[in-house]
Amino acid sequence: MGRVIKVLKLGTNPGRRRADRGRALVAGGAGFLGSHLCQRLVSDGYEVIALDNFHTGKKYNLAAIARDASFTCIKHDIVDELPADFAVDEIYNLACPASPPHYQADPIHTFKTSVLGSINLLELARRHNAKIFQASTSEVYGDPLVHPQPEGYFGNVNTHGPRSCYDEGKRSAETLFFDYSRTYGIDVRVARIFNTYGPRMQPDDGRVVSNFIVQALRGDDITVYGSGAQTRSFCFVNDLIEGFVRLMNAAAAPQHPVNLGNPVEFTIMELAELVIDYTNSPSRIVHRPLPVDDPRQRKPDISFARQHLGWEPKVALSEGLANTTAYFDALLGGRRFVVPR
Ligand code: NAD
Ligand code: UDP
Repeated sequence: MGRVIKVLKLGTNPGRRRADRGRALVAGGAGFLGSHLCQRLVSDGYEVIALDNFHTGKKYNLAAIARDASFTCIKHDIVDELPADFAVDEIYNLACPASPPHYQADPIHTFKTSVLGSINLLELARRHNAKIFQASTSEVYGDPLVHPQPEGYFGNVNTHGPRSCYDEGKRSAETLFFDYSRTYGIDVRVARIFNTYGPRMQPDDGRVVSNFIVQALRGDDITVYGSGAQTRSFCFVNDLIEGFVRLMNAAAAPQHPVNLGNPVEFTIMELAELVIDYTNSPSRIVHRPLPVDDPRQRKPDISFARQHLGWEPKVALSEGLANTTAYFDALLGGRRFVVPR
């Protein structure tokens, strides 16, 4: 059974408007993206319940809404039976470690999170006729042979490598979401999220943007895996959350997953050089082995989101990096290059 985290309900914020948009459940609500989503939903007038097992999520990510009367957080692992059969109007499933070192630490639990966790939340949606959103991923395209990747591309995924627990778990979840929709008529919305960064990533998250910024701020070596010729397309968190809300609120549910990401593509070497520039860091670039099955290129085709959601990213990488660097600088004590370990 889950436990309500009382420390997150410190009191009420009388200035807040009434929760009149209904009740939203956010699984993974204490994580990087989940905490930004909870904050957006509270400010849009929802009563919000976050469920999180705090594997990679943090209570302090929720500090901005912890005192709000419209917000509750429950410690719970979505692989287990849900803590209560509470009525909800909307469900967002963001629960799953997203960084390769974190999702590979316990691959079987990662797979269960995507499959059993999704089933638990889909059953809740079914009982309460709630709309349900799934945070899927560009990893469903694997090491893509089509570039950029449109939603119609079926992908090129290894079924048995170290990344497969995440990639295949998310692919299975997509299957479950559309099977629940076809079988029970529930309203599902599936976003395929491409690499997103911003404040509230953990300094030890392990993903490339947070690694590079933290390394640069500390004056440590910047660890480029492989040659750095591989590409990614980086979306700032505020843009992504706007995409989530637009997809969830679109009048008609798209009958397929929808790519959400920034289509501007960079090599990892270019990212390393940009971060060094922005932080004015003395760090050197060093090369480390390329992880197994690391995708060589990735860039979303967002034509569908542009046309049907009126959505596209607005924040350039330069602006997003400046914002994220300021966050990590403050988190690490504001003392660049002399931060104690
Ligand atoms: P994150 O690791 O910061 O957040 C995941 C949250 O889920 C954490 O709070 C964690 O404690 C919680 N969680 C993990 N397993 C759980 C379980 N079994 N039960 C309950 N809570 C659990 O990662 P994030 O970047 O915020 O990612 C959020 C979602 O978006 C994930 O599902 C991820 O796969 C997806 N996604 C993110 C990105 C990205 O670039 N940030 C890209 C593609 C997909
Ligand atoms: N990467 C890197 N150095 C790091 C962390 C990651 O060069 O310290 C590379 C990684 O090999 C990959 C890219 O950066 O090619 C993006 O990695 P991340 O883990 O952020 O996301 P994903 O591989 O899941 O897209």
